[in-house]
Amino acid sequence: MLASIPSATIVGIHGSKVAVEVYVGDGLPGFRIVGLPDTIVREARDRVRAAMLETGYAWPKHNIVVNLAPTAERKSGAGLDVAIAVGLLAASGQLPPERTAGHAFIGELGLDGRVRRVAGVAPMVDALGEIDVVVPDENAGEATVAARRAVRVAATLGEIVAALTGDQPWRAIDRVAVPDEPSRPPPDLADVRGQPVARQALEVAAAGGHNLLFVGSPGSGKTMLAQRLPGLLPPLDRDRALATTMVHSAAGLRLPPGGLVDHPPFRAPHHTSSTVALVGGGSVQLRPGEASLAHNGVLFLDELGEFGRGALEALREPLEEGVVRIARANVHAVLPARFVLVAATNPCPCGGGPPGACQCDDVARVRYLRRLSGPLSDRFDLRVVVHRPSVDDLFAGEGGEPSAAARDRVVAAREIALHRAGKVNAALVPDELDDVAPLAAEARELLRAEMEHDRLTGRGYHKVRRVARTITDLGRSGEHVVGLAEVELALSMRTALPRSGPAEVMRWTA
Ligand SMILES: [Zn+2]
Repeated sequence: MLASIPSATIVGIHGSKVAVEVYVGDGLPGFRIVGLPDTIVREARDRVRAAMLETGYAWPKHNIVVNLAPTAERKSGAGLDVAIAVGLLAASGQLPPERTAGHAFIGELGLDGRVRRVAGVAPMVDALGEIDVVVPDENAGEATVAARRAVRVAATLGEIVAALTGDQPWRAIDRVAVPDEPSRPPPDLADVRGQPVARQALEVAAAGGHNLLFVGSPGSGKTMLAQRLPGLLPPLDRDRALATTMVHSAAGLRLPPGGLVDHPPFRAPHHTSSTVALVGGGSVQLRPGEASLAHNGVLFLDELGEFGRGALEALREPLEEGVVRIARANVHAVLPARFVLVAATNPCPCGGGPPGACQCDDVARVRYLRRLSGPLSDRFDLRVVVHRPSVDDLFAGEGGEPSAAARDRVVAAREIALHRAGKVNAALVPDELDDVAPLAAEARELLRAEMEHDRLTGRGYHKVRRVARTITDLGRSGEHVVGLAEVELALSMRTALPRSGPAEVMRWTA
C-alpha cells in the first residue's frame, strides 16, 4: 500500500514542502529512504521503528520505500520523523489512510514514541500554507504565529494516532505547557550611573540607526551600555517581528512566550566566532549567523580588535545591504541581516586604565584604533569615549533616566525620519543630504573649516550631516534646517580618544 503525508524541511531560513511517500509492499523485507536525505533523515528508520514498537504498533515485515519529494532538493534534520511514522502506519494498514487527510506533520521522534521539538517550525508551517499542522508541544507558539490553518499539538506518536482515529480529541493548544524563554525585561538605562555622553550616543544611534563604537578602558561600562540599546528601540511591528521570528526559529533558538519575537534582538557573539558563525553558512546544513539573528535589532561586537579580519570583512555586506548572500554548489540563499552595530574597544595598546595611567602617545593610539576597527573603520557614524564612572556617580543615590523616556524620543524622531525620507537617517545617501538635511550658514562654515584643516574627510562630512540630522529630529523642534549646535554635537560624537585632559579630544577624520 501507498501513503503520502505532507511535511516540510528547512533550507537556510525558508521552509520547503516535502511529500513523504511511503510504500509498503512485496519484496524482501527492508527499508530504504530516497530523495536526497542527509544522514539524520536516513537515521529516521531507527527512531521511527523503535517509536512504533514502543507505542504498540507493528513494524511491517515487507519491502518499505520512503520517497521524499521533490527528490531534487536536499532534506535535512529529524523533523520528518513523525510524517514517516504516520505514513508507515497508513501504508501498512494500522491507520485508515483517509484519517490522515488534511494534516501535515512536523516533529522528531524519540525511541519511546515521544515527539520532540525541532528547529525551523515557523518557516516550515509558513511554507505548508493552507493545511492543519501537527507539531511538537514545544513548537506550538511559533507554529501558531506562522499558521494559516489549525495548529495541533502532540507529545507522543500514540496521541497523534488517537486523535486522527477519533479515539480522543486533540489537546487544546492553550493547555500546552511550553517551556519558553522566560520573558525578561531588557536591561534599563536607569541602572547606568553618570555617562551622559554615552547615553546620548545610544539615543542617537537608536533614533537614526547609526552604528556606534565605544572606546574605553576595561571596567568603563561599555558592555553595560551596549546591552541597553535594544531597550531604546521601538517594539517590532508585525512584519518585522515575523521576519525576525523566522530567523530565530530556523536557527533553533528558544522563542519568547507566544512564539513571536516582537522586541529587537540583541546578539553579542564572542570574538573567537568564526565567519560562518557571524554571517551564516555551514557545510552540512545552511544556518543563519549572528548577523541574521540580530535582524531588526542590535549586533554587539565586544573587543572589536580581537575579531578575525575575515569575519569582520564578511560583515561588510550586511552592513551595506542589510542581507547576507550565500552561494554554494547546491544552495543559494539570501538571509536578512539589518541591524544596528555597536562595537567596543580599548582606547590604546596598554588598555588605558585609570586617568593618567596610560603611557601611549597620541600617534600610537590613533594607529591602534585604526588597526582595530580595520575593515569596519568607515562603518561607524558615532565614536564615543566611555570613561569609568566617577566616585560621585557611583555614590549618587539614584540611577539615570529610564529607557522608556529615551525610547519615546527615539520613536518620535524615527517617525519624523520615516515620514520625510522613508528610511532612517543612517541610510541617507550623500545626494539626498542637501534636500533632507540642509545646513544653516554657520553650520556649513564650521564643517568647511573642519575639512580645510584636514579634521574631516568627505566621507566624514556626510556622516556628521546624517548624525546632526538625527540630533535635530530628537530635539522635536520639527526644524528642517540643521543648525550649528547640532553639527557641533555630531562632531563631538566622532572622537577617538581623550588626549591629556577630558576637554581636549582627538578626532578621527574618516
Ligand atoms: Zn595606553
